Amino acid sequence: MDIQRVGIVGAGQMGNGIAHVFALAGYDVLMTDISQDSLDRARSIIDGNLTRQVGRGKISEADKDRAMGRISSTLKLAELGQTDLVIEAATERETVKTAIFEDLVPHLKPTTILTSNTSSISITRLASRTDRPEKFMGFHFMNPVPVMQLVELIRGIATDKETFDACLAVVDRLGKTAATAEDFPAFIVNRILMPMINEAVYTLYEGVGNVSSIDMAMKLGTNHPMGPLELADFIGLDTCLAIMNVLHDGLADTKYRPCPLLTKYVEAGWLGRKTDRGFYDYRGETPVPTR
Ligand code: NAD
Repeated sequence: MDIQRVGIVGAGQMGNGIAHVFALAGYDVLMTDISQDSLDRARSIIDGNLTRQVGRGKISEADKDRAMGRISSTLKLAELGQTDLVIEAATERETVKTAIFEDLVPHLKPTTILTSNTSSISITRLASRTDRPEKFMGFHFMNPVPVMQLVELIRGIATDKETFDACLAVVDRLGKTAATAEDFPAFIVNRILMPMINEAVYTLYEGVGNVSSIDMAMKLGTNHPMGPLELADFIGLDTCLAIMNVLHDGLADTKYRPCPLLTKYVEAGWLGRKTDRGFYDYRGETPVPTR
């Protein structure tokens, strides 16, 4: 299966990172979003991140220019119809994703592979809403995409071997490493990571420690590069809560119940770095714990 043109739906923090690594690997990338602002911001973030890579000697100025030249964008989802591979990286809400696939499918070539970067939603269920469940996969990048080595590849019940092998070859060409996961809520990484983050929020909620002591304890005590609350802010507290809800609903086990304090932060609109406030306040020079 020859994959050269790649469509990306959703140009947020994951979408722009995905566009970056595909363009650097020589693919032609077409990004789409519902907001022109997101598309413009994505382009300038990619430009900035590529410039940083040039500065560190990881890529040449010419590599950067070629990569930028391979990225285009559109507000019209239908224009992704001629791509060979689509990666959906829109907001983590099943109704949003389903609507995107339903709108996109009538425009696609029969051979196009459809994938989702979802952190937790059932690949089999998303696939079943398309005309090609056998050509549908979970293609789960880690944040920040240009830095993180892993891609989780998730097969739905119907995914065929040809599709899986084609996605594996893409991961290889990106210079990344794939871990294969079966299609159960939150797959491997988030099935393990999110309950840990949620437990850190319970530890805060119950007053066992404050934000600084919890993050310090996990960084120095378990050799994690970031504390769990700092990491939650980095991921986005809305995304963390959405994943806990998928685990709770999908596995029907009370051990996955989202901490009420996590819900409270999301209700406040304190979603972490992307809104300048979460477990830390990022509005000043250095992040200040909010509890
Ligand atoms: P984000 O909020 O930064 O970006 C989401 C983007 O989707 C926004 O630009 C928004 O305008 C766009 N969008 C919303 N509805 C759309 C539609 N109908 N059509 C096109 N675009 C639409 O979110 P994010 O952190 O980039 O997450 C995107 C996906 O990646 C989610 O499924 C999330 O679970 C997954 N993911 C996130 C992380 C992480 O650490 N944040 C890691 C791995 C996977």
